[in-house]
Amino acid sequence: MAILPIYIYGSPILHKKVAPMVERPKDFDRILIDMWETMYDDDGIGLSANQVGLDLRFFVADFSLRDKKMERVVIINPEIISAEGESIEEEGCLSLPGIREQVPRAEKIVLRYENVDHQVIEREFSGFPARVVQHETDHLNGRVFTDRISSLKRSFIKSKLKRLAEKAASGKFAKDID
Ligand SMILES: [Zn+2]
Repeated sequence: MAILPIYIYGSPILHKKVAPMVERPKDFDRILIDMWETMYDDDGIGLSANQVGLDLRFFVADFSLRDKKMERVVIINPEIISAEGESIEEEGCLSLPGIREQVPRAEKIVLRYENVDHQVIEREFSGFPARVVQHETDHLNGRVFTDRISSLKRSFIKSKLKRLAEKAASGKFAKDID
């Protein structure tokens, strides 16, 4: 097991769309173990593969951290096929340490994805899990949550984002940011 370095805002891999995963890497099971370990170590609720530098279209999320009745999921090749309603809540991100913002999202979505057993699933998510799924699917589409806030709000955190991007350019990871 290993804690993987988390790429920060400004790292090119966070700002491009990740293509669907056709074949799974041979060491996929180990990658999953490392991703869970990395996510829990950094107190995250979800983690997408490109956040740890992997050009693979999947993410992990543990909804039970917020709601004990829910489970944790591995979501491969996610596509949001419908969305309705709106909710606004505060979000943070392991790739944007020190930044939290109110982010508008759909209240309810239907997601098509593959599970670890290669089954294609269409599942409805609402409330908190819907927010996490949208945040992580955004990552795999090359977007971070600050892309979803108004340009006025973004102007207030411009210097923070610039500083993160500068650190990314000099090869720093989330663990290097205090
Ligand atoms: Zn994130």
